[in-house]
Amino acid sequence: MSDDYGYLAAHWAAVRERVDAACREAGRAPAEVDVLPVSKTFGADAIRAATALGLHRFGENKVQEIREKAGPLADCAIDWVVIGHLQTNKAKDVARLAAEVQSLDRWELAEALDRRLQAEGRAIDVLVQVKTSPEESKQGLDPAELPAFLARLRGLDTLRVRGLMTMAVQSGDPAPVRACFRLLRELRDRMAGEGHALPRLSMGMSGDFSLAVAEGATELRIGTAIFGRRG
Ligand SMILES: *Cc1c(COP(=O)(O)O)cnc(C)c1O
Repeated sequence: MSDDYGYLAAHWAAVRERVDAACREAGRAPAEVDVLPVSKTFGADAIRAATALGLHRFGENKVQEIREKAGPLADCAIDWVVIGHLQTNKAKDVARLAAEVQSLDRWELAEALDRRLQAEGRAIDVLVQVKTSPEESKQGLDPAELPAFLARLRGLDTLRVRGLMTMAVQSGDPAPVRACFRLLRELRDRMAGEGHALPRLSMGMSGDFSLAVAEGATELRIGTAIFGRRG
């Protein structure tokens, strides 16, 4: 069955090679930049095949998909990472199933997650998703609200704030894409000056990760280049 996913090894090696090359070009050490494989829309057997390559963290944008895949993959010790817009009513499933949330973008969601995590007796890592692009469709916190939001999150013990996440504008022109990534890095640096350590920057996808590496990404969320095109 996993023969169907024989292509994963070559895709994964090629992605890591391209990421390493982007790091060298940017004067950065490849070890500074992780890749989070994004498995959304791919089934449990594709993910099982990817675990054979040593991959154990996977990004999903729908909690429903994590629910469907977590059972059949219970033996694989997978860390599920939520990267998509989260409705507050999904907090219970997230608290039960997810290792991390990268799409934390509002206080109401933080409170709901905290309540459910307390009930589970767990704490998780979170990244705050920031809106760096003018596109209406892009989710995320307004950059102007970030200082107050981070200050408030300090009151919630179950959410360990590790960094920031963003999705860049979609454009064939690299300049505006890069500007989104640069804004996230500058926000991180500014927040450090206000006493908020945010070491992780999750930014860059299959089509724009070289620009994200050049602007300081510590983590790239890559789906298509690893798993193939989504159906
Ligand atoms: C789907 C998705 C990705 C990966 O996109 P690709 O272009 O397939 O690499 C990254 N981040 C988020 C939030 C996504 O929803």
